[in-house]
Amino acid sequence: MSMISWQMADPKKPLQRVETPVPAPGTGEVRLRVVGCGVCHTDLGFYYDGVRTKSPLPLTLGHEISGMVEAAGPGAEQWTGKAVLVPAVMPCGQCDVCKRRFGNICAAQKMPGNDIQGGFASHIVVPAAQLCEVPLGKDGRPAGTSGVSLAELAVVADALTTPYQAIRESGLTELDTAIFVGVGGVGGFGVQIAKAAGALVLAIDVDPQKLESIAPYADATFNAAQIAFKDLRKAVSDTVKEKGRRRTEWKIFETSGTAAGQQTAFGLLTFGASLAVVGFTMDSVNIRLSNLMAFHATARGNWGCVPEHYPAALKLVLDGKVKLGPFVKTFPLDRINEVFEMVHSRKIRERPVMVP
Ligand SMILES: [Zn+2]
Ligand SMILES: [Zn+2]
Repeated sequence: MSMISWQMADPKKPLQRVETPVPAPGTGEVRLRVVGCGVCHTDLGFYYDGVRTKSPLPLTLGHEISGMVEAAGPGAEQWTGKAVLVPAVMPCGQCDVCKRRFGNICAAQKMPGNDIQGGFASHIVVPAAQLCEVPLGKDGRPAGTSGVSLAELAVVADALTTPYQAIRESGLTELDTAIFVGVGGVGGFGVQIAKAAGALVLAIDVDPQKLESIAPYADATFNAAQIAFKDLRKAVSDTVKEKGRRRTEWKIFETSGTAAGQQTAFGLLTFGASLAVVGFTMDSVNIRLSNLMAFHATARGNWGCVPEHYPAALKLVLDGKVKLGPFVKTFPLDRINEVFEMVHSRKIRERPVMVP
């Protein structure tokens, strides 16, 4: 039996289709038949922007993976035949930080499509210890009433779990206001997760299409490109007041990964607010850090999500509280070069999932 993978040998050249014998899983590992693999901006960073992968090239990219376990190495036999999500970041589980449930900063963590071969392939071998099982119904589809497919669920492994962890760590409750700056893939799912938690949810972007897509899930949307910052801040504040929510302790999430978005998010700080930096940009911003002091506010970053949170994040989707359907689009894996180009040139609104 052979395996197809689409490898990055040289970032200046199209990804190459390579056929090799199917690898055998080692001790504690399983081999998956990949069912879906989401395309993330991190993949594009490796391909277009010269971000270096930790593993040498050629490398198969892709770290948002769902699949079926078709072979297991010694010690992982119990996973055979199960549907699973592969966490985008898999901590070692053994070191000091892992033992303190801080595994997303584990120095020995493995990320498919970066530290190890990724998911833009027909098969992948991964460590079994951190996998998240997807319960299946009698019809062989993911359990629950959501109607979501196992391929679509691939985006849970990053696009959804990343804002999930940031929201959890912010301590968001149903009494709070959550403000998302940037409502593409990650921020859009963040809006839905915060709404499911019962918070008042405000969405800010500069792209009218993104605001239109997320409007049914947010309490209010604001286009930061159409109003001066001072007016944006007043509009946000007025909305919070109108809805009878606290004027303090806003939970602000920077999910645009742009310098302008970071300026906006920082500028929205209130007394006791928390700012989570979830998006990534190489650009720097000019801010007055002492505002944190004056507002007794908190800023923190968020890298990925520890595997422990995956089952709860998955449940939100299976219970229909977070909708994937309108935000995800599947493509055959052999169209990967075209799909990368579409995402890079922003010609697609949905998050693509490649299906082998
Ligand atoms: Zn990613
Ligand atoms: Zn570790």
